[in-house]
Amino acid sequence: QSQEVSQARIDYHVALQALQEHGTRMVCTGKMHTDRICRFDYLCYSSEAEEFVFFHSNSSVMLPNLGSRRFQPALLDLSSVEDHNTQYFNFLELPAAALKFMPKPVFVPDITLILNRFNPDNLMHVFHDDLLPAYYTMKQYSDLDDEARLVFMEGWSEGPHFDLYRLLSSKQPLLKEQLKNFGKLMCFTKSYVGLSKMTTWYQYGFVQPQGPKANILVSGNEIRQFARALMDKMNITRKDDYIVVFSRSTTRLILNEAEVIMALAQEFQMRVVTVSLEEQSFPSIVQVISGASMLVSMHGAQLITSLFLPRGAAVVELFPFAVNPEQYTPYKTLASLPGMDIHYISWRNTKEENTVTHPDRPWEQGGIAHLDKEEQDRIQASKEVPRHLCCRNPEWLFRIYQDTLVDIPSFLEVLKEGMKTKPSLKKAKVASTVHPGRVREPKCQTSVQTTNEAKLTVSWQIPWNLKFLKVREVKYEVWIQEQGENTYMPYILPQQNYTFSENIKPFTTYLVWVRCIFNKNLLGPFRCRCLLKW
Ligand code: UDP
Repeated sequence: QSQEVSQARIDYHVALQALQEHGTRMVCTGKMHTDRICRFDYLCYSSEAEEFVFFHSNSSVMLPNLGSRRFQPALLDLSSVEDHNTQYFNFLELPAAALKFMPKPVFVPDITLILNRFNPDNLMHVFHDDLLPAYYTMKQYSDLDDEARLVFMEGWSEGPHFDLYRLLSSKQPLLKEQLKNFGKLMCFTKSYVGLSKMTTWYQYGFVQPQGPKANILVSGNEIRQFARALMDKMNITRKDDYIVVFSRSTTRLILNEAEVIMALAQEFQMRVVTVSLEEQSFPSIVQVISGASMLVSMHGAQLITSLFLPRGAAVVELFPFAVNPEQYTPYKTLASLPGMDIHYISWRNTKEENTVTHPDRPWEQGGIAHLDKEEQDRIQASKEVPRHLCCRNPEWLFRIYQDTLVDIPSFLEVLKEGMKTKPSLKKAKVASTVHPGRVREPKCQTSVQTTNEAKLTVSWQIPWNLKFLKVREVKYEVWIQEQGENTYMPYILPQQNYTFSENIKPFTTYLVWVRCIFNKNLLGPFRCRCLLKW
């Protein structure tokens, strides 16, 4: 049916003629396959071959033109998970003349975003790998608007969180499986392929043990704008103050949840509510979380919902026995993003008698019965999981799927300690993130005192943006570097001019660098004033 609707909206013969005459056109951003997103006119897909097809003609365009480097290892990553060999994108090539011998193409008129979901069964992956990257890829290319069509090529079925993917645009996303319904050959009139990696903060440990990405480029502001947009689509409005315990009901249980809830209520004199993915809809969970002052949960994907917490809230993440919280930090990293303003606290079970292991479960739920007796004994005796790679380390799975009886005194102790250092929200809000501009009109004056004594007077004007800002503290940093030397003398100054006389040699060329600093840590760009004349 959608096919009929689509076909009515474009002139089929015009489209077919354009494809035959012009072939496919591709223009991409990104120097490497890991940072590339490509825009296509008339990218086609053969459901028979299960391949994308690029049609060459005299006026087709392929930029970058990589030749066979296109296969080393791929043109681009279809998912936001970097350089994963199951997530590569490429296409087959054919001359446009071959169209004569092929089934009639069906044209998709919608502007389409083609991508792979990485692991649509797991909520953390859904948000971190798919929803946030897709949301900001769509913001990057403004024709990917609310009318855009998303196509998921990883080959999975809808999965438990498909409603969340539906929030990205008003059109139903297509799965790879459904492309067959469009006939043997379909052509996307305009499409983008690939996902922005700008918003991801965590690497899952395929090449090195898991941890925060080396160069995080997203701040809490962008995460919160995304969260707000999603909440608007779910028609959610915030409620009042309470503590939420996010409970898991099948694995990695809190065995004394009732006791934990009582302790929290007593300690903070607040209402405590529980939520669980097994028992309620996702929007109703977000509704609750978006008004909470504290979220308490076992380590696990459900903690990604902390991105819906209000500013100033706290996340308390519980870890089973022998799991070191420092080594598994997707949620800590999220909470700690600048501008996220979430207070993060972790608690770990240090009492072996309070853990319940499940050695006889299937391996993917932490069972170890399939291992050598010796290896089983070693794992059972170990007090901490050593660092490891993703994704099938049996010791890690064994420990992370334990159930835990939370020791209330140590839990409350960690909470009290942790809440002591909770930054007040007022402070966080005032802390502005506006950086200084360049200092203006930098000037230098030199004067020779004696044959080996000289003075250097440097002055400058305030950065242009300062006059519009209320800044608590404005300082200037000046570096004086003798030309050709690697070292420099740094000075921090409160005023806009200074005369240097120490270590200044007459008739020597100095490079003078000046930058402005707001509130101790907001650095502006350096401006260089090069001195050549005495
Ligand atoms: N899950 C849940 N309740 C449970 C166990 C899992 O809601 O008792 C959810 C979990 O939040 C995640 C998915 O099921 O979205 C997969 O859970 P798994 O334990 O495999 O992954 P993890 O939580 O460790 O990322």
